[in-house]
Formats: sequence, C-alpha cells, structure tokens
Amino acid sequence: MSFKITILGSSGALPVYGRHPSAQLVEIQSRFFLVDCGEAAQMQLMRFGASYHRINHIFISHLHGDHYLGLMGLIFTMHLQRRAADLHVYSHRGLDEIITTQLRYSRSAPSFRIVFHRLEKDAQGVIYEDDAITVETIPLVHKIRSSGFLFKEKPKPRRVDKTRLPQGLLIRQVAGLKRGDDVVDDAGNILYRNADLTLPPRRSRSYAYCSDTAYVERIAEQIKGVDILYHEATFTMDDEPRARETLHSTAAHAATIALKADAGKLVLGHFSARYKELEPILDEARRIFPEAHLALEGVEFSIAE
Ligand SMILES: [Zn+2]
Repeated sequence: MSFKITILGSSGALPVYGRHPSAQLVEIQSRFFLVDCGEAAQMQLMRFGASYHRINHIFISHLHGDHYLGLMGLIFTMHLQRRAADLHVYSHRGLDEIITTQLRYSRSAPSFRIVFHRLEKDAQGVIYEDDAITVETIPLVHKIRSSGFLFKEKPKPRRVDKTRLPQGLLIRQVAGLKRGDDVVDDAGNILYRNADLTLPPRRSRSYAYCSDTAYVERIAEQIKGVDILYHEATFTMDDEPRARETLHSTAAHAATIALKADAGKLVLGHFSARYKELEPILDEARRIFPEAHLALEGVEFSIAE
C-alpha cells in the first residue's frame, strides 16, 4: 500500500532559480493530503501529474505567504471544476477570514463546503484520524504560530497466512486471528493457535513535516523513529546568525534533529534565495546524517511496507 511524498515546491520565502515555494503532496493508502500550499501549488500538481480532485485535507503550517498563497487559486479551480466534496483546511487562526473575505469580494460561493479547522498555539495533538492513519501537530518555534505535522499509520492487523489456513473457518474466527486471537470452539477449547496461522503485522510507517522552525530539540522526541523527516534547512552554518534572527534552521540543525530522532531518512527544504547551488546545504547535513536528501521539485520519496 502506498506511502509517498511528492515535492511540489521547497523554496524559502522567495521563488528563485525556478524553485517554487513550499508545497507537498502526501499519499498514504490512497488518501491524498496537501501539506502547505505555496503559490502555484496547483500548477505544480498538474505538472507532476497529480490529481487535486482527490485532495480532501489541506494542512497549512503557518501563515507566511510562501506557505499558503496558492490556496485561493486551488480553491477557485476546484470551484470551476464543480467540486462537490467537502474540503478540510487545517491552519492557525486567520486563514478562514482571509479565504472567506476573498470569496465574498469576488461574489463567489464555492460549489463545495470548506471546513476550517483551527490549530492551537504550541499544541501537540491529533487533528485528523481515520481507520488507518492519524495526523498530529508538532509545535514549532517561528516568528508567528507554526506547526509541523506527523503522519502515522495506525498499528496494523496480523496477516492471515493463507497457505496454512484450514478450510471452513468462520468469518469471525478469521477476524479474530487478525486481532491476535486463537481459534476456539464453543466450549473455549483452542483449535488452532494464532501463531500457527498468522504472520506478524506489517510495520506502521510515519512521516514528519517540520517547516518553518528554529532548532527545537524536543521535536526529535515526538518523532522518534520516524521513517522520513522533512526538516527545513533555510541556511548553512555560515549563516547561522541569520537563522537565529529569523527563527529558521540550518542544514546542520536539521541533520541533528534527524540523528537524535533516529530517522530513516532526512529531506531538506525551504532553501534561502541566497543559495543558487544547494550542494553546500546537502554536504553540511550529510556530515552529520548521511541519509540526507534535497527536496527537489518532482522528486518522490516512498516508504516501503
Ligand atoms: Zn515562515
């Protein structure tokens, strides 16, 4: 089953050198989530062959323009395409006002309902849940309220080993096997032991998105063991004073969080306009955490089952 992150944009603040501002498409078990929605996110979705029709949930980390200015365009396109399904938008306070004001003055009533979910300042908690996954907020430290997002698959059922499954089991007995129960008769006697008929569950995968933020060590605790960490790396250590001043991170900061979190892979993004070439950012991170990669547009990062 799918677990894939597609980079739509990873430029910090200014769109330069052909780089677009922050946006990512996250696909987990055929659910599609948009994470941040910088300017031209809808164009990038089309460019990389991703359908925006299937996006029902959009998570906005904070209200600096490079993280949400593409949202109105996307909403308007969805409206023109006569979208019917509800669209859920998660953000810190103010976005509902921004969007509804624009809609009011364009005298456009969207063809679908927009459901705004307000994120709480400095809160860590589950904001989305369905039968297979959860999304929780990661408190970040930035000039304005800012949250990261941790996508996690829920624990999965044990897998029934079809090659060893006896004939004639009832549906409830098979369901019980998936939960870890033995097969018993009406008197409670064990007919088959669970371990003889099932295989361990597939592991639950996870992805953490952390942008924009200063270096915050506690992030590592919350995302411990994450498969992929996207962490902003706006600067290199040569510009650390600038990172401190603007409450951003360096590549070394991002790599340190990945190391402390015991992450499987680190994806670096939100590059400052001062870096035309990105190798210095990648090199700095790899000296600390070798499994570091650049969030280049169009690149997909998948997590195997
Ligand atoms: Zn910002």
